[in-house]
Parts: sequence; C-alpha cells; structure tokens
Amino acid sequence: MSGKACVIGAGSNGLAAAIVLAQAGLQVDVLEAEPLPGGAARTLELTLPGFHHDFGAAVFPLGAGSPFFKSLPLSIHGLEWIHSPAALAHPLDDGTAVLLERDLTHARDSLGIDGLAWDNLMRPFVERWNDFAPQILRPVSFVPRNPWLMARFGLVALRSARVVARRFRDPRTRALFAGLAAHSFLDLDEPLSAAFAILMAVPAHAVGWPIPRGGAQSLTNALCSLLATLGGSVKTSTRVQSLSRLENHDLLVCDLTPRQIVEVCGEKLSDDYKRRLARYRYGPGVFKVDYALKAPIPWKAADCLRAATVHLGGSFEDIALSEKAVRNGQPAERPFVLLVQPSLFDSSRAPAGKHTAWAYCHVPHGSKVDMLERVENQIERFAPGFRECVLARGVLTPSDLQRLDANLVGGDIGGGVMDLRQFLFRPTSQYYATSAPDVYICSSSTPPGGGVHGMCGYHAAKMALSRFQKR
Ligand SMILES: Cc1cc2nc3c(=O)[nH]c(=O)nc-3n(C[C@H](O)[C@H](O)[C@H](O)COP(=O)(O)OP(=O)(O)OC[C@H]3O[C@@H](n4cnc5c(N)ncnc54)[C@H](O)[C@@H]3O)c2cc1C
Repeated sequence: MSGKACVIGAGSNGLAAAIVLAQAGLQVDVLEAEPLPGGAARTLELTLPGFHHDFGAAVFPLGAGSPFFKSLPLSIHGLEWIHSPAALAHPLDDGTAVLLERDLTHARDSLGIDGLAWDNLMRPFVERWNDFAPQILRPVSFVPRNPWLMARFGLVALRSARVVARRFRDPRTRALFAGLAAHSFLDLDEPLSAAFAILMAVPAHAVGWPIPRGGAQSLTNALCSLLATLGGSVKTSTRVQSLSRLENHDLLVCDLTPRQIVEVCGEKLSDDYKRRLARYRYGPGVFKVDYALKAPIPWKAADCLRAATVHLGGSFEDIALSEKAVRNGQPAERPFVLLVQPSLFDSSRAPAGKHTAWAYCHVPHGSKVDMLERVENQIERFAPGFRECVLARGVLTPSDLQRLDANLVGGDIGGGVMDLRQFLFRPTSQYYATSAPDVYICSSSTPPGGGVHGMCGYHAAKMALSRFQKR
C-alpha cells in the first residue's frame, strides 16, 4: 500500500498504530509534543541523578500479554522483561502479607481455604489466555469468537467486586481481590469492578507482571527502533495545535483523548460528532510520588521483598472505603496505595546499593490536595521506618502529570472513566473512527482502554487501513 500517514502522539498506542501503518507500506511520521517519546511509558530522572523512575506505567501484565506486542521482535530491539518471584504482595496489619504467586497451582496452594475458589475463578481464562487476550483487548463483541469463554467471563465480570469477593472465605483473599479490583478506579460496589480484578489476576498467572529492564522507556525505545526499521520517523518536541501546519497526508491517527481531538482536529469534525465527544467523561486522577532510597523498603512482612508490586490498603473494607471516597469526589483519609520497587529486581534503576520506589494513590479528578503525608502514612503502616530510607522524593500532582503528558487530563491515567457505558462505547459507538473519513483516534480513550498494550493503536490502524483501501 502506498500513501502517507501522520500519527499525533508517541505514546505506546501512537507507536503501535505507526508500526501497523508502516508494516502495511505507508510512510509514517509520528509527531510528539514532549522531548522524549513514550507518553506515560517513559523513564525519567525524577529525583536525583542516577535514579531512573518510570513517569507513568511501571509494571506490564498487558504489555507482556498483548497479542500485538507479542507479534513484534521487540527483544531484538532491546526489550527484556524481568519477573519478580511473586507478581504482587499485599501486606496486612498483622505483619504478614498475602502473595499473588505467578504459577496458578502455587497460588492455589498458598491461598489456603480459598485456593480452590481462586483456581476455579481464574483457571478457565489463564489456560486459554491466547484465546482470551484478543477478545478482551478489543471493542466488546456481541458475537465473540469464543462465546462460551466470553459468556463465562461476562457472568462474573459484570458484577461488583464485593459480590464476587463473597466466594472467598478468608479476609486475606478478599483483601487481595479488592486491591486488584481497585485498579478500575470504580467503587467496589459498582458493576464491572470485578472485571478488573480478573483482568489483573489472570495475566499474573498467564504471563506474569513483569517490569522492563531499564524501565518503561526500554519498551518505548524498542517500539521506536522497530518503527525506524520500517521507515517510520518520530519527531519529538513537536506539539500539534491545529491541523493547518501539518504536511499533506492520507491518514491522520491521533493518540489523543476526546477533548484534545476537538481542540486539534475540530475544523475537520462534524458538529454532531464534536457534541458526542464533549459528552465523554474523564475519571479520577492520581497523586504520584517517586522515591530515591538509601536501602530497600523495611517491610514488616519480609515476603513483600519477593514482589515488584505491593498493594497498600489493608482489608477489603479499607480499600473499598478509599475507592468509594474518590468516586464521590473526596480524597481518601487512608488511600489505597499502589507501590512498585523495581530496583530490587533491576539494578540499572539506581546507583549501586541504592533503590527506587514508585507509588501513587487515586484522587478526585484534578485534585489539588497534597496527599504526600497520607501516602507515606500508608507505607509506614506496613513498613515502619520507611521515611528514614528516603534520600529524595519527586511529587507529581494531577496537574503535573497533565503538564508532562497532555493526555493525562486532570491526572486521569486511563484516558477516561471505564464504567459500563464507556466500556461499551469508547469514546463513541464508532470507536476509532471519527466523522472525518481520514481521521482516527488510537489513544486509551478507545477500546480496550488504559494500560500499555498497544491494542488501541493496533485496532485503530487496522480500521484506518481497511477503510483507506476501500477509498
Ligand atoms: C502514573 C501512571 C501509572 C500507570 N501505571 C501503569 C502500569 O503500571 N501498567 C500499565 O500497563 N499502565 C499503566 N498506566 C497507564 C498507561 O501508562 C496508559 O494507559 C498508556 O500509556 C496510554 O498510552 P497512550 O499511547 O494511549 O497515551 P500516552 O502514553 O499518554 O501518550 C500520548 C502521547 O501524546 C502526546 N501528545 C499529547 N498531545 C499532543 C499534541 N497536541 N501534539 C503532539 N503530541 C501530543 C503526549 O505527549 C504523549 O506522549 C499508568 C499511567 C500513569 C500516568
């Protein structure tokens, strides 16, 4: 196929779209506002020289499990996944931790009285990950390719996390399930919140929760390097404010959220379509802290040192309260904190003997409340003495996040609320297509939504190519 394509935004979805277009033979130029490509998949020195922090994404279950990324020779371009022995640790107030073991049989044994219930819930999807992943990482299909598997998923996924957690008898397992469900940013009493727990746990057993050696930037650099071999280019420090200055192209694919699409491409879009985009809803934000540490985190439960990711929130009820507050527009008093300690497993992240940690909590959209003390109180709750290990901290409020990546509107890291309506129609019922035949959207505001998996970019580019061929 011949022709020219322009991609606005070099996030993981923009780069995925660019690769699909370049593979089809188009000449592709990617224009990126920031000096470094990657968007929310970048690694920056956010505290002290020599300490490398992931600005956004840090752990990549869907990156490792992405059918599109798996089809690419990314290891040749420098990507190496590192797996911590356990996917996730969830410390509790009694000084112990419940671990999400990578191997499902091992997880079943370690979860005691709930092992069988956990296994029954996860195994059908874990064993058929290669069928399951392409079905969940695309727009919802009402005639799925694997109807029984997807019907089974739908039966649990549409429920609230609280309802599904009732099948576990041990409060420790319920706490683990709550932490996984809280990735949804939903109230744990809301429909669909259970889906996120399953969508986080299943890849933990099927492909792991790996971190890239060197940080998220290694994945981005591998995508850029592959794109270059296909003849594509990435031009950084180039913010596109309107289409008037763009060179001629046959296809325009935007790694932007709906509000930005209207600002940048408004002149090409119909009024009706712009009204529909204006109805799109953004979600809560995050308050993030990066730490340079002089020692590993002094967890009360030493088992926490076996996992790159640690969920800090205590019991199911504690986490549910935190998430309900945020969904109701209030910052939580005891926020659920997601923490990653990559330098325990990847020595390239910090100078010898030193460490990094990455932590965030959910806050209301655009919140200006300083959550630093509350985040650190939660870390201290499970790791007394943590503050003495801190050499430096870098705080990113919702507005800081948006300043460094314009897609993170109000600190929303998922490209828009993922409730039932925006799960089905994201950002509209046309998904990647807009009212202009040559303009497409490929950001996480399209299916399947947030996370570094490149599948929004993949599907957007496939749709753009199939319509371009017919023109
Ligand atoms: C703090 C945080 C933690 C996260 N943790 C994880 C995690 O652990 N695992 C995971 O899988 N996901 C995680 N995510 C979510 C994940 O990073 C995102 O869903 C994903 O990166 C979205 O990719 P994208 O390409 O759609 O958008 P982005 O990565 O946001 O990329 C959009 C790009 O477009 C550029 N851009 C915007 N406007 C313009 C313009 N006008 N002109 C030119 N360029 C423009 C931006 O600079 C940016 O580079 C996290 C995100 C954040 C912020």
